[in-house]
Amino acid sequence: MKIIEQTISNYIFSNYSNDSIHFSQKGHEQVVYFQDEATGLQAIVGIHDTTLGPAVGGLRFFEYQDERDALKDVLRLSRGMTYKASIAGLNCGGGKAVIMKKKGMKLTEALLRKYGTFIERLGGHYITAPDYNTTMEHMVEIAKSTRHVIGLPVASGGSGDPSENTAYGVYMAMKATAKKTFGRDCLTGKKIGIAGVGKVGYFLAQLLCKEEAIVYVADICAKRLQAITEVCKVEVVAAERLCSRPLDIYAPCALGATLNSATIPMLNCAIVVGAANNQLADQDRDGKLLLKRGIIYTPDFLANAGGLINAVTELEPRSKDLVKKRTEQLYTICLDVLDKAAKTARPTQEIAQEMAIARIQSIKNAQLGQ
Ligand code: NAD
Repeated sequence: MKIIEQTISNYIFSNYSNDSIHFSQKGHEQVVYFQDEATGLQAIVGIHDTTLGPAVGGLRFFEYQDERDALKDVLRLSRGMTYKASIAGLNCGGGKAVIMKKKGMKLTEALLRKYGTFIERLGGHYITAPDYNTTMEHMVEIAKSTRHVIGLPVASGGSGDPSENTAYGVYMAMKATAKKTFGRDCLTGKKIGIAGVGKVGYFLAQLLCKEEAIVYVADICAKRLQAITEVCKVEVVAAERLCSRPLDIYAPCALGATLNSATIPMLNCAIVVGAANNQLADQDRDGKLLLKRGIIYTPDFLANAGGLINAVTELEPRSKDLVKKRTEQLYTICLDVLDKAAKTARPTQEIAQEMAIARIQSIKNAQLGQ
């Protein structure tokens, strides 16, 4: 069996010598490539920033076009985790991992144990967690070979599925954005469209129905639609029609990059706030497009921080009440971001990123001054 572990710079530069990926530009501390021929494992871990604590972030299992594609995803997502942790006031940094999926590949126990062995070698600088196509049960397998894993089921001593708390955080962000936009944070009677009623959208719809909002839902999965219509009064809308429907609030809770130059002109709402990661297809362009259209956008990494708030209780044990309180603080943070954005007429995600970076920089400065 041959195990290859090398820093990504050696690996990627030997394979893509003419490529335009510049590691120094986005401030990543460490990027590592792991490969194990016996199990077929090929993984990349990105550690963006550990100023606030160990880098925490999910493990994605995805069929990328090529390694460059996977690397770009890791670099982008790990940076996003730094911003999310920082703005939510958490004591952890940003990281992310991907396992490159090949046709027919399964996340076997052997492969996950090997992945755990590699994560253990990083000495706790990166802590892995569930993400796209990886579950709490996969984390149980990974935990057999590393201590540096969170997002375990409650039965295994973990914090369980974070989706309900993610939904609660989105709800808090929605109320704050409504307060800023409509003058009141009450959502009763507001027309709210949820695109994607999976794990997060399902809980979000219930919170909104409880407050007597008028809730429209869309999903490409009939089972998901059935599940939500069984527990609350919502109107089902065709997935491709929801974003252009007249709404007060549009909540993207499915995939990333759904706010782009094709969809933004179609939006017919005052506010966009949802759970999906990386909602803006192009951070600079699409944030400005929304601003130009007068649509208030609450940055995704702020609105969906409830999941991370829940998961990190495995690192810093906290009661359920404290998790709830910390999630409710997203309301005040949102108001702060929206106020600053309004005063400067700048895109909200730029302001939120600057606030996240400022917290990290102040810690760095204090450390330098010691
Ligand atoms: P999920 O997979 O359980 O749900 C996503 C839903 O979107 C599914 O029901 C799917 O059928 C639906 N969908 C897919 N394509 C669609 C389309 N074109 N139109 C309408 N619906 C579509 O995922 P989730 O855990 O609910 O997460 C939703 C989003 O929030 C993801 O982007 C995820 O990365 C992000 N997020 C989730 C959490 C969490 O705690 N689960 C935390 C932070 C961020």
